[in-house]
Amino acid sequence: MDVTGHARRVYRSRRVVTAERSGLAAVHVESGVIAAVGGYDDVPVGAEIVDFGDLVLMPGLVDTHVHVNEPGRTEWEGFASATRAAAAGGVTTIVDMPLNSVPATTSVQAFKAKLAAADSQLTVDVGFWGGVVPGNAAELRPLRDAGVLGFKCFLVPSGVDEFPAVGEADLRAALPELAALGLPLLAHAEVPGPIEAATTKLAGASPLRHATWLASRPPAAELEAIELLLRLCREHGARLHIVHLSASGAVDLLRAAKAAGQPVSVETCPHYLALCAEEIADGRTDCKCAPPIRERANNESLWAALEEGVIDLVASDHSPCPPAMKNLPTGDEMADRDTARGDFFRAWGGIASLELALSVVWTAARRRGHGPERLAQWMSAAPARLAGLDSRKGSIAPGRDADFVVWDPDATFTVDPARLHQRHDLTPYAGRTVHGAVRATYLRGREVFSAGAFAQPPTGRVLLGGPAGLAS
Ligand SMILES: [Zn+2]
Repeated sequence: MDVTGHARRVYRSRRVVTAERSGLAAVHVESGVIAAVGGYDDVPVGAEIVDFGDLVLMPGLVDTHVHVNEPGRTEWEGFASATRAAAAGGVTTIVDMPLNSVPATTSVQAFKAKLAAADSQLTVDVGFWGGVVPGNAAELRPLRDAGVLGFKCFLVPSGVDEFPAVGEADLRAALPELAALGLPLLAHAEVPGPIEAATTKLAGASPLRHATWLASRPPAAELEAIELLLRLCREHGARLHIVHLSASGAVDLLRAAKAAGQPVSVETCPHYLALCAEEIADGRTDCKCAPPIRERANNESLWAALEEGVIDLVASDHSPCPPAMKNLPTGDEMADRDTARGDFFRAWGGIASLELALSVVWTAARRRGHGPERLAQWMSAAPARLAGLDSRKGSIAPGRDADFVVWDPDATFTVDPARLHQRHDLTPYAGRTVHGAVRATYLRGREVFSAGAFAQPPTGRVLLGGPAGLAS
């Protein structure tokens, strides 16, 4: 006990990653909040010490791009399974996307259904994005007042009917409201024109080949969308966040917008950094996503943009579905047009990687000479800032929640889908050997995951923004 009567616990390691540095340190925690960060031996008399030795003690990851799909498509994923997968992957906060659940989070009523579904199921903390769809501009302020952290939109069909795409007129209705609220517009940046033109030219090409899928979603679709979004957001003074950037050709545009002082942030995903089109075999629909995974040279440029800071963060875009909807050939099956096995155009687009994001990104990052502190920037601090959660999440500093991931950067393991905690065991990383093993995850100072087991009962909380957040 200290003078205030609160029990103080000290977590220390030889590799603590704080906002300023990485190395020997002791993190003092009181009532679930970081009270101080001190020297390794600076431990108050009587404090309980948890010493992690050579393991990295880093802020828990904040994954701002997760499709939980509950309520309505809980057979695809769900709050219980998604937040367990998160905890097992060292992710202590997720922000749920407004679509693929039914209802989609495009009204206060729908948001209330989402909050009710989340209740008492959460192993980690969860925030929420609302949606901008045609005709819901009047819902945006009430949704902010109810606690959503920002708004997502699509400029191309989203894949589900209840979340239609917006056009320029819809954006012109929504953006003044978002600018007034000071919340970011998160945009799926592809426009239909170049996709339709490319698809017409592909008549007769095999839908079983990833190359055909790739050719149907050309970089021009992303570039044109980003140009449009930058222009409209500049006009209205709204914050813009480009989700899952795949086309590295857009980096120059984004760099220029940032240099001119426009408030724009950019994310890419583990699959664009770790996988490449050249290595995706026919029928491998587990690698289908939109925008598509592009060629190695493109992905090298994404890495360079991430290292330079034009790309701010890495989020998973965890978007699972029941395995049957991926149409992936299994066992001795061959990709086959007649059965739709391995058909990229009929398979659900989405990759589930919430639990593996740390290891997948780390495996590539360490090869490029980066240390864990870069990962903490890309996967904890920057996403916390995007979601407006940085006063509580995303770094090891006094006043922040004691959310930690404790992991071994040198350990390797081979991905066994059956051992994942997401609802379905489908992953494009099956059989890959990766570096970086999560040993324990702490939420507000409490160990919520360790050695394959989760603490009971779950203690994750809903994170509300806006006026609702002041009361929580
Ligand atoms: Zn997504």
